[in-house]
Formats: sequence, structure tokens, C-alpha cells
Amino acid sequence: MFRKILIANRGEIACRVIATAHRLGIATVAVYSDADRDSRHVALAGEAWYVGPSPARESYLDAARIIEVARASGAEAIHPGYGFLSENADFAQACADAGIVFIGPPPGAIRAMGSKAESKALMERSGVPLVPGYHGADQDDVILGAEAAKIGYPVLIKASAGGGGKGMRIVASAGDFLTQLHGARREARASFGDERMLVEKYLTDPRHIEIQVFADTHGNCVHLFERDCSIQRRHQKVLEEAPAPGMTAERRRAMGDAAIAAARAVGYVGAGTVEFIAEGDHFFFMEMNTRLQVEHPVTEQITGQDLVEWQLRVAAGGTLPCTQEQLFIAGHAIEARIYAEDPERDFMPSTGTLAHLVQPRDSEQVRVDTGVRQGTTITPFYDPMIAKLIVWGDDRDEALARLRSALDEYEVVGVRTNLGLLRAIAAEPDFAAAKLTTGFIAAHPGVLERHDEAGSEITALAAAAIELVLEAQSQARAQAARGNDPHSPWAESDAWRLNIVGYYDVHLSTGHLNTGEATEIVRVLPGTSGAWKLVLRGRTLAVTAERLDGALLLTLDGTRRRIPVIRTGESLTAIIAGRNHTFTRIDPFAPPQQASSGAGGLFAPIPGRVVKVLAEPGQKVLRGEILIVLEAMKMEMTLTAQQDGTVDQVRCAEGDLVAEGAELVMLVPA
Ligand code: ADP
Ligand code: ADP
Ligand code: MG
Repeated sequence: MFRKILIANRGEIACRVIATAHRLGIATVAVYSDADRDSRHVALAGEAWYVGPSPARESYLDAARIIEVARASGAEAIHPGYGFLSENADFAQACADAGIVFIGPPPGAIRAMGSKAESKALMERSGVPLVPGYHGADQDDVILGAEAAKIGYPVLIKASAGGGGKGMRIVASAGDFLTQLHGARREARASFGDERMLVEKYLTDPRHIEIQVFADTHGNCVHLFERDCSIQRRHQKVLEEAPAPGMTAERRRAMGDAAIAAARAVGYVGAGTVEFIAEGDHFFFMEMNTRLQVEHPVTEQITGQDLVEWQLRVAAGGTLPCTQEQLFIAGHAIEARIYAEDPERDFMPSTGTLAHLVQPRDSEQVRVDTGVRQGTTITPFYDPMIAKLIVWGDDRDEALARLRSALDEYEVVGVRTNLGLLRAIAAEPDFAAAKLTTGFIAAHPGVLERHDEAGSEITALAAAAIELVLEAQSQARAQAARGNDPHSPWAESDAWRLNIVGYYDVHLSTGHLNTGEATEIVRVLPGTSGAWKLVLRGRTLAVTAERLDGALLLTLDGTRRRIPVIRTGESLTAIIAGRNHTFTRIDPFAPPQQASSGAGGLFAPIPGRVVKVLAEPGQKVLRGEILIVLEAMKMEMTLTAQQDGTVDQVRCAEGDLVAEGAELVMLVPA
């Protein structure tokens, strides 16, 4: 076994690999960029080496620098995690050339599976079923259009070099084909430097089912059953589970055999995943990911195996720890990916500092794989996935019950997250009934809406108002204690003495994105021994409130709740059953804010890198026309003109890193 390894990754997966290495007594070397100086993976590793500036290209993707650090630190092997260099055949080769073990498959296997088109051709020859489609070399527009017609609409255009859902377009009819083809090409060129496309029949109601395979250098190859990853947004996974509901032993054998055939066809070694798309009684090969997958923990939870340990043993030349016959499924596991993003704004990634973070407690049945801690800043440089919650149960119902309660334990303040969406899906009867398809979120638009349990917003307002009054009172007390006359009546912080009527009016604005802002006035009448009166929205409420362990213990209408209230600047977030209610404190005497100037201008909605500038000074544009393409956190965003007008100035260039709110294009409205 290795004595020391380097982990060429960050975030939760770097932490995950470090945990197994340490359990096995293997020393670890982390690498980090400027943005990650204070991150969790750096703190956990035995040693951590700086590899460069924040953009991944200049740090985590700098193969030469990473190999140099491996050498200098004495690491014998490199674990690439997922993403970044994990599926880069040249990097695997460069490791070998430098005498360092790449913990992953041989370069040849990565190369063979790296292109979706070539891997499909290869699978076809091995007798693995494929989605009907075209994966030929001829990329002429006319040929591709003719193939699409032959397949029959709707079709899916995919970048052969693609990943992460980029360069993928659904085409409903022949009339849209060329526009979508050119769009997909542009995206693929920008993201992968390769614009080859394949065309597939677009299945309208499929499931994503994948098989975990493992091979060693001694000719053994097994599968560790399947995962269902059908719950997706933007063609990317959100919830995954194992085993796949409804799977029969016969079908599991057929899919397992196909996956092993796929792995054997390329001389596979290590951990890999063969992804299938399934509809009705059929399943078709989609692609093979030649690395450890994000959702590998659900497989670990049902098999009792540590897949990172398997990877290390295989890379060190050992045999697979188990034979196919020794592997079995116990219970059911579900994983939820916690993303820093806003499902209500089309899953726009969200950046910020985690001012407050409470994650569910780890146990035998609940596992949290996380890359963050309180105080961590989510930057625009990397993927928005910040943690994974994995639950296990004797059966699916038990696992689902645990998922619901663990999701309620999450408290995250500082970035927007998809926790509300995850909770809504977990509560959806069709999810409980395991009616899983890749169109689940689209078919259940209700899961994207904010569901406020009756009265929880009132409770949140009450908590925020009380928190502010408690704060004002303790400030007044502190001030009085500093003053020369501690016996002055003004030192009494009781509202009764401060103003004759004995109340505080707290002005809070509810910054709802959809409904606009509303100012709420909460009248707080502090009483003795924690018994208070509140007047809000025309109701008078009797509450008792006290502070305990950094949260408010609030009793309202006979219900007692522990409510963390987190203050960051003028903003207050009250967390009720894991749901954030954020308010801004308003000074009722402050002058109204000036409206921003640039009426027709185009602003960056999130910090990011400018990929493409399509606007030119003097150009007349129509509302909806694409002016800028911005990339942030693995996602590409097209920014369009908000109204008709003429471009006055372009204030950014391709490659620029821009801050949130930066004006990118100045437009004179028509
Ligand atoms: P999976 O099927 O395992 O979700 P994806 O193709 O979506 O695989 O990508 C795997 C993961 O790798 C992503 O979820 C993401 O966290 C990470 N990843 C991929 N590309 C990048 C990148 N350019 N920068 C950072 N992380 C990345
Ligand atoms: P990526 O490299 O981005 O992971 P995949 O080829 O694995 O790309 O596809 C990602 C997702 O897109 C799948 O999980 C599935 O939801 C959807 N998808 C892919 N191919 C098809 C298809 N032919 N019909 C319908 N949906 C598809
Ligand atoms: Mg895929």
C-alpha cells in the first residue's frame, strides 16, 4: 500500500478521499488555490501545498504543477477525485511518465470512453444496447439533419466530448434543428474545445440507471449493483438512490453483464460507472464515466464497502477485495446533493460566506460528506455543489423518512441553497411512490415553489423582531454600564421607561423575489420574565421568548420552537424547521434609496468569467437578443437585452472576471 498520496481536488471529494487514506494510515497531501486557502480539505490533510490562483485552469487543472508538488512532497500516487483532471488521459499518462501512480484507469481506457461517439461505436461492437441515434464522424449540417429526421423527432443533440450537461440540446422538430445544432456547437467549442456532435432519439419519460463497476490489474471485474439517478435538473443529478426501485434480479443481471462487458472492452482498471437510460423494459448505454462518481456513497451504504479503499488497493496492485458472489445489497440508501444555487431563479448558482452552518449529525444511518464549514466562502470559481447528505434505511420508506428529518436539520445562512427543493421532492407523494423519471421536477412544478407552512412566516417575523429588541436592550444596558451614573433611569433598558407607551416598533422588509418587497411593522411590548406581547398583521400575539445556545426559544400559540436567528449586517434570518426566512431591518427615518441609474444596462447577475461578447458599440439590439455569455460555477449563462435599444458602451472583454452587479453593457433604450 502507498505511504503517501496527493489528492488533486478540492471540496467534499477531497475531504472524502482524505478520510479513507487516514483510516488506512496513508499520509495525505492536499493542494489548494488562492480561493481555498482556508478550506476544509486543506485543514484535514496532513500537509497542503499551494498550486496557484483561483481559476481552476491556473491551479487544479495545472497538471505540471500538480505533478511537481507530488514529487516534491514525496507522494507516490495521485487521487484525482471527480471533475478536474480525473478523466484527462494526458494527465494519467504524465503521472506514469513521472513515476507516480494515477489512481484511476489506464490512459487508454480513459481515451476510449472520453468521446461519447467513439465509446458508443465501441459498445455497439461489444453488443451493448444503444439509444437509437447517429454517432458517425461526418459532421456536415445536412448529414446530421438527415440523421435526425431518420431517428424521428424529438431528438437530443449532444457534444461528443460533453459532460455536466453542457452542449446538450433537445430539438422538438426539424425547423429548430440547425439553430440548436449551432448553439450546441458553440457551447461545446467554448467548454471542451471540440465541437463534434452526436444525435440521439430523445426519450421523453426515461430513467437514468447506472452500474458501478470495478476492475483490478489481475483480470477481475465485478459490478456493485445499480443506482437510480433520475431526479435531475439541467440534465444533472440532484437525488440518487440504490438499489433502483422496481429492479428485478433478471434485469440487474442483464445490466450488470452489459456494464462489465463495457469495462472489459476497454481494458478497464479501477472504479467506473456505466450510465444507462431506461424506458419501459429497455435500457440503453449512454456513456461511461471513468472515475469515482459523485453519488458513489449510496453504493457504499448498501454494500458496506469503501470504494475509495478499493481504488487505493487496486492502484497499489492488489486484487479486488470481493468477488461478485460475495457482494450483496443490504437496505436502501438515498443521496441528496446540497447545491449553493437558487431553484426559484432557474438554478442560478449562489455565492457568499456561510455565516451560519449546522449540518445533520453523522450516525450509522446518516452520513454527511461535506467540503464546507461555518465561515467558508462559496466563490464563483468552482462547482456549486457544497455537500451531500446520504441516508440509509432497512427499506426505501425508512431511508426516505430519515432523509426528510435530516434535511430539516440543515441550517445554512449566507448563500441560497436547494434545500427547499430537496425537502419538497422528499415530501412529494410520487417520490414516495418511487415514480422516478428524469422529467420529475418538470412534471411536479410545485416542488419549485416556496411552500410556507401556515403561520411559519409570522413566527419568523416575531422571532426576528424579538431578536432585534433583545439586542437593543443589551446594547442599552452595556451603554449605561459604561456611563457615569449606573443608577440613572435611562440605564433601565425596559421599554416601559424609554417611551411612555412602552413598545418598540420594528420595521422589517421581506425581500421576496417573486412578490416584491413588503415592509412589515412588528410592535413589540416586552413583558416581565420573558412573557411578551407582539402586534403584527393586525393580530396580537402572546409569546414567551428566551435565548438559549445561540437560538431563540419561542413559544407562540402554545407551540414551543427553537429558532436560530442569524444576524449578518442589516439582514436577519430566522430558521424554522430548516427553512430560511430572511428579513432586512429598515430604518423608518432613512431617506428612500436612489434607484440605480443605467436603465437599459446589462448587469452580471453573479460573479463570473465573460466567455463571449456579442454586443458592439453602436449596435442596435432587440429585447431578448444575447449580448454576453457568462460562465460561473460550471454553468454558462446567456445575458440578453432587457429592452430594445442601442449599445452605448461595452464594459467587459472576453476572459474578464466580473463582480456581481458589474455593468457589462450600457444600453440607450430606444
Ligand atoms: P456525475 O455523474 O458524477 O455527477 P458530472 O459529469 O456531473 O458527473 O461531473 C462530476 C462532478 O465533477 C460534478 O458534479 C462537479 O462537482 C465536478 N466537476 C466537473 N467539472 C468540474 C469543473 N470544471 N470544476 C469543478 N468541478 C467540476
Ligand atoms: P453528461 O456527460 O452531461 O452526464 P449524459 O449523456 O450522461 O451526459 O446525459 C445526461 C442526462 O441527460 C441523462 O442522465 C438524462 O437525464 C439525459 N439524457 C441523455 N441522453 C438522453 C436521451 N437520449 N433521451 C432523454 N434524455 C437523455
Ligand atoms: Mg452522464
